[in-house]
Amino acid sequence: MDLGIDGKAALVCAASKGLGRACAFSLAREGVKVTILARSPEPLEATAEEIRAATGAAVTTVACDITTPEGRQAALAACPDPDILVNNAGGPPPGNFRDWTRDDWIAAVDANMLTPIELIKATVDGMIARRFGRIVNITSSAVKAPIDILGLSNGARAGLTGFVAGIARKTVAHNVTINGLLPGPFATDRLKSTVTSVAEASGKSFDEVWQARMKANPAERFGDPAEFGEACAFLCSAQAGYITGQNLLLDGGAFPGTL
Ligand code: NAD
Repeated sequence: MDLGIDGKAALVCAASKGLGRACAFSLAREGVKVTILARSPEPLEATAEEIRAATGAAVTTVACDITTPEGRQAALAACPDPDILVNNAGGPPPGNFRDWTRDDWIAAVDANMLTPIELIKATVDGMIARRFGRIVNITSSAVKAPIDILGLSNGARAGLTGFVAGIARKTVAHNVTINGLLPGPFATDRLKSTVTSVAEASGKSFDEVWQARMKANPAERFGDPAEFGEACAFLCSAQAGYITGQNLLLDGGAFPGTL
């Protein structure tokens, strides 16, 4: 299926590894010119080289922290008029809400709610003027089924989801859609670090916890980041112009509800 986005420009945040990287890869395979960013230049450049070699697409890199105003300025200077925006950043740490300070909350809300909102604000009117825009926010299955130890993530991402639910109905008449992609457990560095924390806290080995979590999923495996990237590319396709304000859960069926 030709997704009809050859030649479009995409800004893909937090994309040297994991889910962001997979989204950049899938978009580049469709002929999209991708600008990818992450904080550390070396892994970012390595990912850019891999994408160029595999797809032949133009890849621009910006080494920046997207949760800062300077980082967003640098990203938007490199890709001032994106047709596609994939919002992503590292997730907040797990913990007990009794230990979290106001500063911990501000950091989580900054990274996982206000940063995507700032980037939407900076790019959406250009998309509306050009009559094409696809915005995908990488959030979490915790938006639908909150996870107790991830309270900072539950709160910040629910805030973003509520904001988007309001504006996504205002932009779609201009062929600009805004949707959430909600990962369940995907085999990335992030998952390895959360499994490491659980293993340390419970006195079990990493492998024991990793295998148990895999088996607990109805698919009996973790998601492959490439599967996530392909779902993102579809939401960014020309054909997906009638899908907006939705929150697509990719979790191997872990969420037990009918809807
Ligand atoms: P990852 O650790 O594999 O990759 C994160 C990427 O983001 C890296 O490229 C890193 O350099 C970059 N990054 C982090 N903070 C950044 C910042 N401030 N500025 C710029 N770049 C930054 O993580 P992942 O598994 O791909 O997770 C992506 C998002 O999805 C996170 O918010 C995570 O909490 C969420 N999530 C992941 C899972 C999962 O199972 N992998 C499940 C639910 C939610």
